[in-house]
Amino acid sequence: MTQWITVLGSTGSIGCSTLDVVRRHPEKYRVYALTAATRVAEMAGQIAEFSPRYAVMADASAAAQLREQLPEDCVTEVLNGDDALVQVASDERVDQVMAAIVGAAGLLPTLAAANAGKRVLLANKESLVMAGPLFLGAVKKGGAELLPIDSEHNAIFQSMPADYAGRLDASGIRKILLTASGGPFRGRQSSELNDVTPSQAVAHPNWSMGAKISVDSATLMNKGLELIEACFLFNCDADDVEVVVHPESVIHSMVQYCDGSVLAQLGQPDMRTPIAYGMAWPERIEAGVESLNLFDIARLNFEAPDEENFPCLALARVAFAQGGTMPAVLNAANEVAVAAFLREDIRFTTIPALIKKVMDQHSVVSADSLDVVLSADSWARATAESFLQEESL
Ligand code: NAD
Ligand code: MG
Repeated sequence: MTQWITVLGSTGSIGCSTLDVVRRHPEKYRVYALTAATRVAEMAGQIAEFSPRYAVMADASAAAQLREQLPEDCVTEVLNGDDALVQVASDERVDQVMAAIVGAAGLLPTLAAANAGKRVLLANKESLVMAGPLFLGAVKKGGAELLPIDSEHNAIFQSMPADYAGRLDASGIRKILLTASGGPFRGRQSSELNDVTPSQAVAHPNWSMGAKISVDSATLMNKGLELIEACFLFNCDADDVEVVVHPESVIHSMVQYCDGSVLAQLGQPDMRTPIAYGMAWPERIEAGVESLNLFDIARLNFEAPDEENFPCLALARVAFAQGGTMPAVLNAANEVAVAAFLREDIRFTTIPALIKKVMDQHSVVSADSLDVVLSADSWARATAESFLQEESL
């Protein structure tokens, strides 16, 4: 039967890869809604190809520009704003929601999809980091299916027993091995990181991704966010997850069992593999991804992460250990810091310094409602912006 899908963040890197998988299976998947922030021309092209019922832009002006570009007989209704995002993520006609808006902006529609019992294809790790318990509560209450799309978590999911019930020891699992490429600056000292530029930081050695996650990969904050993501998804402690730097990005993560077995998922660094897996699970479909050629790869390397020169991973561990609102604060401060770095307002090495300063000022409270999470997020953004104004970093 045809599955109707809403793609949140359809003009981004994950959004475009998702539409490429849809394009290969027109009989299986149809697009219900596409959403984007401001990229009007790309959205108009996607509408012409996929004829969704709705297109949602972030604001009224982008929506008006989009309407002007669409032909008169276009079947797509153009909407804008948070309420529209929530509507297209939770509409009863929708089967699957690809959550691929970047950052905290993705929280409300992703949560709405969970509450409405959809299959949630979770790329937007920030929403889980910010509001883990709340989000997982919504998945349970809404009867949603949560499929991790982040390549590592998708690999872990594939390497876990199909009946995993939320306890590592009950499934004979000793440890989760979360692989990391190490990013473009692997091997450098912090003194050599002072003057790196945004274009150097976004030039990831293996993956082609949006700007924000590329900077996160360069600081190792991406691995920090993924550590928290793994703990929430698989209901385990930070000590159960070991970060393993694996520069080739061929193994996407592993699960170590008590009998000494280690199960891994390998593949090209192409997000269409985890996306297709999530869309078709428990079946498998063509994703347009070439098979691995192990003879070309020849060698796989592993090393420990350098937490001294890349302090963001340790900051994420602290945030998860403190719990409550602290992961939301870590995430928000990171978003402000990364945006400032991309504007060339701060140095690369100021990113962890700014995040730490904001975390040090925060009094953790329990994150048991959306209001509490959103107010911690706003507080952290305002606090980070005020440190940026003071230039006291
Ligand atoms: P991207 O920057 O390429 O795309 C982001 C999308 O979100 C765009 O469609 C943009 O229009 C939309 N968007 C941005 N701000 C918005 C706002 N305020 N309101 C509404 N829409 C908004 O990012 P990406 O690389 O595709 O990453 C998307 C998410 O997937 C992130 O959370 C990222 O961490 C996660 N992820 C990405 C990859 C990857 O390979 N790119 C891998 C794993 C996880
Ligand atoms: Mg990842």
